[in-house]
Amino acid sequence: MSHLSLAGRDGVLPNYTLLDDNVTLDVGVTWIDPDTSEFQGEEFSYRRGSRVALTELAPGATFYAQGLAVKIDAIDLDQGESNIQTWQICPQCGWSGIHPAGIGGTPVSSCPRCRTGAIADVKQSLKVIELKKVSAEVRRDEASINDARDERVRERFTVLAAADINPANVAGAWFVQDRDFGAQYLKRLDLRWLNVGRATSQGQKRLIAGVESTTSLFRICAHCGQLDKAAGRNTREEHRSWCSHRKAATEDVREIALARTLHTQGVLLHLPPQLEYDHFAHPSLSAAVLLGLREVIGGSPEHLDVATVRDALQAPDRRALLIHDTVPGGTGYLAEFAHPDRVWSVLAKAWEVLRTCPCREEERLACHRCLLPFASPTELDKVSRTSALKALSDILGVGSHHQPEFTDWEITDVPPHRCPRATSPSCRRISTPASSNGCGSTEPRSPRNRASTAPERASPCQARRPACGR
Ligand SMILES: [Zn+2]
Ligand SMILES: [Zn+2]
Ligand SMILES: [Zn+2]
Repeated sequence: MSHLSLAGRDGVLPNYTLLDDNVTLDVGVTWIDPDTSEFQGEEFSYRRGSRVALTELAPGATFYAQGLAVKIDAIDLDQGESNIQTWQICPQCGWSGIHPAGIGGTPVSSCPRCRTGAIADVKQSLKVIELKKVSAEVRRDEASINDARDERVRERFTVLAAADINPANVAGAWFVQDRDFGAQYLKRLDLRWLNVGRATSQGQKRLIAGVESTTSLFRICAHCGQLDKAAGRNTREEHRSWCSHRKAATEDVREIALARTLHTQGVLLHLPPQLEYDHFAHPSLSAAVLLGLREVIGGSPEHLDVATVRDALQAPDRRALLIHDTVPGGTGYLAEFAHPDRVWSVLAKAWEVLRTCPCREEERLACHRCLLPFASPTELDKVSRTSALKALSDILGVGSHHQPEFTDWEITDVPPHRCPRATSPSCRRISTPASSNGCGSTEPRSPRNRASTAPERASPCQARRPACGR
């Protein structure tokens, strides 16, 4: 029995919570009956969990079922585009101001979380649909899978994660002295994933939650929601048969991103700066954390996942790992990670498996006995046992020959010292040349940041050590 069903049986999880989190695909199949030469049709529906649906059921993706390769080609807009929201998204942190269709909210001039004024740029306002219902219309003879065409197409999309962390929801924070590592337990957080289009498409450059992308969004008809084929012209084939815009002289399209939102609980792990230099570090450590959770839980961590997000409020030039509950609302399970010994156990268990995994002598990056079961399908080639082991050893403070000891961690509630002008040798240790500020400082750009962040985050030079004499 999985941990999830055990938890459900014991009343930890309300059983209804998982039922609601789905996306529906309606498929219409038509064909001509060879005997009567008449048009025939049938419809069927599929449901997928919203996590996989954000890419597998996105317009442009191909869905395989009942011997058919079904290309998804429309999004349900509901009446009068009422599904299209406007999101004002912060370029630096995960905050979004969401305005439902038809209700024009006032855009903010600076981000309520990280204070950046760059959020006021018009490029930060996006048309967004929370993915709930999509459809496909195919002709059976064209969509049938046969021997000559049994190669499956998997369209790749660019998906960005944005975690909105309200400092008021930080229910516990701790840091390891001199390790640039720490954790915050978030009793509530809003996690959003945005599918911003096909990975190979070319569009406007935009910055969302600290991540740059250049894909073109989904261009759809504003009336029937069908994916547009070519910009600047209008043809009947670009619409559903019932669309009032089929014969219009000009097209009327919307460019939208697809979203999935999860209000849940989590633990944000702040990471050392040197991980930014290793291309493999974050995917590898992310898989290692799930591996460690499996070891600690004693079963598959089905109700938990890990997202890589910008550490916008602590160190905006770095990424952090966010362990989060996958159950809407959260189960309360992660509350125990407000205690450092619990996080230490997860990391130490993962370290132990990785140190001894037989793949270390097999000339491969990782294997099914260690990290691969926990890697995201799009990052299988970026998951490395060596990278994960190196990151864990740094965080745990062990060489390859010593067992980690919890007593090696000196716990403090003071965040690591982050000097805004890290020039002295004692400060250089925590500075990074890749800093977005260009001066090696890890301080967020906006000076107002200091006053706006969590009470437990000390202002840069409040750290109780005389590092640079400021
Ligand atoms: Zn922000
Ligand atoms: Zn249309
Ligand atoms: Zn292995």
